[in-house]
Amino acid sequence: MKRKILLVVIAFSMVISGAFFISDATTNRAVATTVLPSELFLFNPYRDIDFATIGRYRASLHNHTFNSDGFSSMQRSITRNAGIGFNILAFADHDFVSYPWDNRDVLAGNIIGPGPGGRDGHAFDVDMTNCHGLLAVQGNELSWFHHIGSYFTDFEAGTHGSDITDEFSLLKQASAHADKAGRFTIKHPGRYTSWDANEQLVWSDRPTAAQRWVTFTDMTPTEWYQNIFASFSRVLAIEVFNQNDRYANDRRTYDQIMTGIMPARPVWLMANDDNHSNHYGVNVNVMLMPAGSVSEPEGIDEFRKSFERGAFFAKSFGGGAIPENLEIPEFGGQLGSRWNYVPVVEDIIIDEITGNIELRASQHTHIEWITEGGVVAGAGNRINFRTNPLIRGYVRGVLTNRCRVDGTLIATTLMQPFGVGPYDADSWFFYFTGQPSNAPSNNGNGNNNGNNGDNNNGYPYPIPNGRCGSGSVTAGVVFFGLGVLGFVMFAVKKD
Ligand SMILES: [Zn+2]
Repeated sequence: MKRKILLVVIAFSMVISGAFFISDATTNRAVATTVLPSELFLFNPYRDIDFATIGRYRASLHNHTFNSDGFSSMQRSITRNAGIGFNILAFADHDFVSYPWDNRDVLAGNIIGPGPGGRDGHAFDVDMTNCHGLLAVQGNELSWFHHIGSYFTDFEAGTHGSDITDEFSLLKQASAHADKAGRFTIKHPGRYTSWDANEQLVWSDRPTAAQRWVTFTDMTPTEWYQNIFASFSRVLAIEVFNQNDRYANDRRTYDQIMTGIMPARPVWLMANDDNHSNHYGVNVNVMLMPAGSVSEPEGIDEFRKSFERGAFFAKSFGGGAIPENLEIPEFGGQLGSRWNYVPVVEDIIIDEITGNIELRASQHTHIEWITEGGVVAGAGNRINFRTNPLIRGYVRGVLTNRCRVDGTLIATTLMQPFGVGPYDADSWFFYFTGQPSNAPSNNGNGNNNGNNGDNNNGYPYPIPNGRCGSGSVTAGVVFFGLGVLGFVMFAVKKD
């Protein structure tokens, strides 16, 4: 009961504060064109990160094994990933949760048989004393027509299939699954999309009904993805580097999707190997977590927090040339040496008053900033979100390391997007990735169906900061503060 009251207080405070910040609660993005620079907020996924002390841990979150269509046992994948220098590993077998790593072998009936090509189906061969300290993350790949990454849950689409007709009903079920824990990602959108002669994003690969993609045939890709993100707060990220860089259209598609839903709905960029045979260590997510926590009992919670908040970088050698002599022997060898070629964000210094964002970085030759519709010209390691007229909705940093001799791309580091825009009451709810169940239906597209009692992951989302407005701001701040306080009380209570 107390919990309900708190939730009401939170929701009420947020709505009221929103009303003070913007006089018109129905404000939509069109208004953004008239917002004064001083009225912009910066939604910063790296807020609260102390780069001087934070730990950086490499996560490989998309690996296949014999349990689906991979050509590797779990143990071999573990050994190989650890040898390359990963700290965190998730298996993402198709519609099969290869987790706990040493557990499911007793469930013989659940083990998928020999895979294509006569592989012998060594399902759970993991010796937990030989996991090289890797943090194990539960995962699987929900393999409807569009592949969806699934983490922290034992939900498997195959065992819940009868009511699933498309990705929307799949995500609805996954969100409402008994463990109430799932977090999801959209994988390689560039597999399904391309650009037509008019530079419009179109479906390049469309399923037949037999391929289990039944609805939304009248939606453009942009509409479809935006609907996914508007409907399911638990869908956190898009995989934009996949297996080297199989789908180079992933990142442009990402920016197309974000244009129109940012800053209200941040979606993180991920880079994964999608390893089936020998695609180890090309792509990596570097998670910002308290130093040392990865090997402590709280490691999984800290990983999850970093994942949900977007406190990580997506990095890749994909599309570039992995320098010679960096192929890592499976056992031993020059561990981790390839990482010396990937750009590192050392610090992000933000002046919320002036609007300056300044990067300190190393192992890079170039920095670009991308906003709606393309690269912001003329920016280097500094950009101003208030005064740069090109920035709209969001801005994200891209660091590359190029060969000094011929400019060949070696490696890329993607920062998560900073949201830039006016305060928007709707966006507030999205910033709690699990929306309170009593939050108003807020996307207006009739698909707000991801919130079936699965609220509250316990991590408040970035609080709008860097606001320099005037007028009714004080009252707004007070109610806003009440909202934050309420949430904190709720989170504490929950523990
Ligand atoms: Zn996969």
